[in-house]
Amino acid sequence: MWHMRIGAVEVMRVEESLGPGFDPAFLFPLYDPAVLDEHPLLAAPALFDRAAGKLMSSIHCWLLRVGDAVVLIDTCSGNGKPRSHPAFRRFSMLDTPWLERLAACGVRPEQVTLVVNTHLHVDHVGWNTRYEGGRLVPTFPRARYLIGRDELAHWRDPEGGPRLHPAGIEVIADSVDPVEQAGLVELIADGDSILPGISVHAAPGHTAGQLIVRVASQGALGIFTADVFHQPMQMLRPEWNSCFCEVPDLAVATRRRVLREAAESGAVVFPTHTGAPHAGRVAVAGDAFRFIPVTGVSA
Ligand SMILES: [Zn+2]
Repeated sequence: MWHMRIGAVEVMRVEESLGPGFDPAFLFPLYDPAVLDEHPLLAAPALFDRAAGKLMSSIHCWLLRVGDAVVLIDTCSGNGKPRSHPAFRRFSMLDTPWLERLAACGVRPEQVTLVVNTHLHVDHVGWNTRYEGGRLVPTFPRARYLIGRDELAHWRDPEGGPRLHPAGIEVIADSVDPVEQAGLVELIADGDSILPGISVHAAPGHTAGQLIVRVASQGALGIFTADVFHQPMQMLRPEWNSCFCEVPDLAVATRRRVLREAAESGAVVFPTHTGAPHAGRVAVAGDAFRFIPVTGVSA
């Protein structure tokens, strides 16, 4: 199981899926293959499947353990959820052993104390709930589910998410509404501390109210960057948004700001969709950045 430490905080990666995903020209409308020649790592098999012409795409949750706290950052896509929009077909009616992988990390659902949804996209909230006897129930019955105030407000406004991104309506209905109805949701906002040394920060653009999670412990720093970038090639081309970024100009500005902060602080960044080794540091390179992989330890 992949793991590393940020000071006293243990970090594990709970995989839902890993494999060739999108054609880069689809994911990044500004894509230019010349980027592959600028950093050999970008064309390595762990990040790019040349035969298929597709980016290696991971969907995983980050599990943090410190003291008695068991924290999940995002909850992947979930099992058995119908996704009717054509763009969401790859998330529809999944049957993955994600809960078994969580168990292999030593965590039963009842032990999770906090769930952070960095944003409310289909691949970040799915395991918030699961089906039990045909009924949707919170997967983590003793957890508080922390959701960005701005992000949820965007989806509660009929003129916001529901009108702009109707494919997300069923995601909110089956993966957010049930935990809210169970009284488990707590709203969070920029700068909030959720545990000693662990705080959330606004990173809007990919979605209206995306948050990232900053972990500082014993002089070490980690930033769980949600979907500020999907692939390390966006470090070399920070102006490349994914086709799923909802507020394009803001997404670019946030990406530059977060990558610069990571480079200047020496933080390890933990994105949600990057192939192995899944985490890394950031170096400034002219007007852009480079990715320096950090390898987790398998044990
Ligand atoms: Zn995502």
